[in-house]
Amino acid sequence: MTEKSYFNNEYLLQIKDNYKKIADNINSAVNKAGRTDKVRLMAVTKTVPFEIVNYSASLGIELLGENRVQEFLGKYEHYDKKCQVHFIGRLQSNKVKYIIDKVSMIHSVDSVKLADEIDRRCQVSGRKMDILIEVNIGNEENKSGVPTDEVSRLAEHCLSLPNIILKGFMAIPPIDIDGSSCKFFERMERIYNDYRCKFGEQIDTLSMGMSADYANAVMYGANIVRIGSALFGRRS
Ligand SMILES: *Cc1c(COP(=O)(O)O)cnc(C)c1O
Repeated sequence: MTEKSYFNNEYLLQIKDNYKKIADNINSAVNKAGRTDKVRLMAVTKTVPFEIVNYSASLGIELLGENRVQEFLGKYEHYDKKCQVHFIGRLQSNKVKYIIDKVSMIHSVDSVKLADEIDRRCQVSGRKMDILIEVNIGNEENKSGVPTDEVSRLAEHCLSLPNIILKGFMAIPPIDIDGSSCKFFERMERIYNDYRCKFGEQIDTLSMGMSADYANAVMYGANIVRIGSALFGRRS
């Protein structure tokens, strides 16, 4: 997409149309799954100018997902203040300090070191931070997230830290041979339900499903779906 095409009316109408379709698809999946709880649509804003992000907010989107610290710092001041911002990208410990007062949840906690740094920065800022553990649910090499056999160790560590609140789990699953990620969504749902049984309602967030597969993710209990290209168009 060229810079110019961002601000024309046709593009805005396209986003409006996309938003309506996504919201309809989420509702259908919620009904089909027989769910009575709510699914939040997160707009993933990487490469999207803040004006366009704010346009999506004017349509009703209230949750933004940020991947890149540097890009986020350049845009966040301009964002509609009614929006909540969650950090969803790979996060180096030395960057935590830049975002700690600007986001209300971090979805991508995948190491003790990162959890400790978030806890420490929260202490300095006098706040608490909601976090999700990112699970490498396909146990893929070179993929972010904690491998499945290390989830419990990291979860216990997070639960022991005074300034972070473990709310649940996030995943970016691979695509299985059947062309879907359903098997992995199902595994994530199982992990989420296990922790919800053990630790109660503090565990209330399952973040999975992107543009290509959010309807399936909703069938397996996702309550935040993270949508970029289906809303804003293909990233250049
Ligand atoms: C980019 C991104 C998304 C959105 O991806 P789309 O396929 O464009 O919807 C969701 N989650 C994370 C962590 C991402 O980096």
